[in-house]
Amino acid sequence: MVVVAEGARATRERSSSRAVSKELPAVLTASQLGILIEALVRRGYAVVAPTVRDGAIVYDQVESVHDLPAGWTDEQAPGQYRLKRRDDEALFGYTVGPQSWKKYLHPAEVRLWAAERQGRTFRILNNEAKAEAPRAFLGVRACELAAIAVQDRVLLEDKYRDPIYGARRWGALLIAVQCTQSAATCFCASMGTGPAISNGADLVLTELLGPQGHRFLIRPGSERGAELLDEIQTTPATEADVNQSEAGVKEAARQQTRAIDTNGIKELLYQNFEHPRWDHVAARCLTCANCTMVCPTCFCTTVEDVSDVTGDHAERWRRWDSCFTQTFSYIHGGSVRTSGKARYRQWMTHKLASWIDQFGTSGCVGCGRCITWCPVGIDITEEVRALREGENHGNP
Ligand code: SF4
Ligand code: SF4
Repeated sequence: MVVVAEGARATRERSSSRAVSKELPAVLTASQLGILIEALVRRGYAVVAPTVRDGAIVYDQVESVHDLPAGWTDEQAPGQYRLKRRDDEALFGYTVGPQSWKKYLHPAEVRLWAAERQGRTFRILNNEAKAEAPRAFLGVRACELAAIAVQDRVLLEDKYRDPIYGARRWGALLIAVQCTQSAATCFCASMGTGPAISNGADLVLTELLGPQGHRFLIRPGSERGAELLDEIQTTPATEADVNQSEAGVKEAARQQTRAIDTNGIKELLYQNFEHPRWDHVAARCLTCANCTMVCPTCFCTTVEDVSDVTGDHAERWRRWDSCFTQTFSYIHGGSVRTSGKARYRQWMTHKLASWIDQFGTSGCVGCGRCITWCPVGIDITEEVRALREGENHGNP
């Protein structure tokens, strides 16, 4: 376990060993992005990137640039998501979909071990994880880099470290893309996590469209990224390219209509346990747990033991869990959070207040997924605002 944790630490150190270069931006044409993917494959990476499936942008392994969602964009609102065509061939002309990179780094289901009956006892089978190719994540957004940093802190930097996360994080190459447009549900600018990218990535791209052609401004963010970039033929960026990139990112921030005022947010939550707004939100919340499943920072899991019908084969699985289920807080004889009100309050108070005490950072990066994928459109930014409007209301 220590080895894995040290490996992960080394990964982070290597990733952060070089701040995203401001001096040496280069330009890659859209067709050269395919060459970058080929270079990654040659180096043994499984390349995972956005692709279109089932009416949404999801992350999956890609073989070529043709697997990316060319000419698609998304429209998001509380409880709503749909894809529509763009009038150009942008490859990253959308924001975040229902999945985050947590799908790969902290997977929803992991078999911890298996055992077989042997006479009157059990024999633990060889449970060594199969060696997998390291992954290159292409298209990581600023809020998602922030979410990965949050999960690094939670899962690798405390006394008890998660070797499963560490093994997956170790070796993962992060190729980020700066957002030049925001969804109506994004609020990363107010959380200080985006849309500009300053560190945490191996390479940083900004997609540029217009009369100068379809191209990408590209900067290394680590030694690994710089080495990779050396393999690809690029042209030096012009001042106009850099200006267009900066203007695009500023525009993405300007488009954000939602925000959380984070001033004194911890105290706000701690001082309002009895605020009537919790009843208001509980009357709408279905306790379906969607918000925790889509959240890129939520990390809670449960452990389940299963056996086959003969009882000869048994397995232990780790699966994502959610503070929205009643069983999550079951302690010898009952759940301590029996109401939807208690569970919603727990989730939001943990995200925005006690997470700061535990890990020194907010548990929310402003990606907006919990707003889009809540079936009844509950909006965390609106809930915080409602609490602020009646601070301390109802408290003893
Ligand atoms: S709480 Fe919502 S907006 Fe914040 S990181 Fe999680 S899913 Fe994104
Ligand atoms: S806030 Fe929305 S997504 Fe989250 S548990 Fe309630 S109904 Fe489900």
